[in-house]
Amino acid sequence: MTIDTSTDVRRHGHRIGGAEIGEATIERRSPASGELLAVYADATSHDVDLAVRTSRAAFDSVAWQDTAHGQRADLLDELVRRLEREADHLAAIDSAEVGKPLAFAAGDVGLGIAHARQAAAIARTAAGESFPGIAARYTAIAERRAVGVVGLIVPWNFPGLITLQKLPYALAAGCAVVIKPSEFTSGSALEIARIVEESGFPAGLVNVVTGYGHTAGHELVAHPGVNYVSFTGSTRTGRAVASTAAANLTRVGLELGGKTANVVFADADLAEAAESTVFGAFANQGESCVATSRLIVDASVADELVSRVVALTRDIVVGLPDDPAADIGSLIHHAHRDSVAAAVEAAKAAGGVVEVGGAVPTAAGLQDGAFYLPTVVSHVDPDSALFQQEVFGPVLAVTTFDDEEDAVRLANATSYGLAQSLWTTDLNRALTVGRKLEAGTVWVNTCSDGSPALAFGGVKSSGYGRDGGVEGYLEFTEYRTLQVRGERRPSPFTKPGPS
Ligand code: NDP
Repeated sequence: MTIDTSTDVRRHGHRIGGAEIGEATIERRSPASGELLAVYADATSHDVDLAVRTSRAAFDSVAWQDTAHGQRADLLDELVRRLEREADHLAAIDSAEVGKPLAFAAGDVGLGIAHARQAAAIARTAAGESFPGIAARYTAIAERRAVGVVGLIVPWNFPGLITLQKLPYALAAGCAVVIKPSEFTSGSALEIARIVEESGFPAGLVNVVTGYGHTAGHELVAHPGVNYVSFTGSTRTGRAVASTAAANLTRVGLELGGKTANVVFADADLAEAAESTVFGAFANQGESCVATSRLIVDASVADELVSRVVALTRDIVVGLPDDPAADIGSLIHHAHRDSVAAAVEAAKAAGGVVEVGGAVPTAAGLQDGAFYLPTVVSHVDPDSALFQQEVFGPVLAVTTFDDEEDAVRLANATSYGLAQSLWTTDLNRALTVGRKLEAGTVWVNTCSDGSPALAFGGVKSSGYGRDGGVEGYLEFTEYRTLQVRGERRPSPFTKPGPS
């Protein structure tokens, strides 16, 4: 492989024990222009083992074990300040490596920092339970202890955000961490690990190994020194992760794919529903696990809503990541763009009608990138692949329903259950239909929304476990009790002695 030696190219080894080690050999080129951005190291099983052992040593150290909750909160507050100072730098890396507009990447990093702030608040207020009246002179304390060394496996669609959706909660709980970012987007995780150290956390508490999922990622999940794995990625890889982890009975949290429906009833505010549908479906190029990739609309208002959605979609600007006018950028790589295009062709063959998009853009400057136009396909058969399978690109599938029961059936008719959205001005319907939709998150009159205070995760093939909020923090802990009996009692097995 020929490696470009220009000085702007970032070169990184793995970050282990506060230093970078290993030769950089994996090139990351801009998916939008082909320009070489960075070269990363390719972790062997030896590198992964070193990272896990380094995390273990930091976890076991007296200095870290003695850290009080309030001290961890102070360290996280300092991390927040330093992340804020370097937010533009982190956003620039993610924007270039993912191919997404810079302003959008800046928003992701801002949300990631909000997670760090949330984790600091949780650390500061962490408490246990006591059970003073279990029996006479018998008291118990229940507490949440750090689970130990955790592996964080981060995908390429929101690299900085998903790292920060997991890492600060792990640190708040008192864990040590090994991060395996995607081979396409390793830059922000390496920088965040450096910033963690500069914030005062012990060197070696957070380590990063870069490389490929099937090698470095697999080795991390299989390592017996890892106590918990938090994974975000595809359902297929999530199953492989769960199966590998089962050999050591390592606990896993799996945030997997989705096929979110926007269910729009005839009484909804159609202008708002259209805007939200378009943003939810196409933001981040549709490369989002919660992308509202299905629009399920009451047949009586379908024509009006679809024409609004198509008009808004035509206005979306597809552009280079550093183009301030761009609403969406490039897909992650050309092979992925080809799979998105193939999904649209298959939908057409299955009777779908392309209302807008359905092609590679021809605008000047975009010819070298993995771009695809935002696409709306109507008349999508609920049994077809476009309705059922995650495309992870800017493609919206439209289907109509006749009544409430039909709407719920269609929304729940995929194997996924990450998020669902419904639009109505009828409060009773919001509550009854909202409860029937199968998902970890149900939005009413909004979509792609949330807060670091609200834990996020799925049901069905979208996985289990939660990221963010108090539930996300608890993922990194084990529940244990300390039971104290104040007075020695004779054993029930003790035989009465001779009188
Ligand atoms: P993967 O699920 O394969 O990758 C996600 C992460 O897991 C990456 O860091 C990857 O590393 C790592 N990984 C891959 N294989 C293993 C393994 N055997 N053990 C441990 N870690 C592993 O997603 P892809 O990048 O292949 O994308 C394919 C599809 O997945 C997308 O089209 C989309 O449908 C879905 N996806 C869903 C995401 C979500 O947010 N839920 C995020 C990303 C993808 P590496 O990239 O280096 O291989």
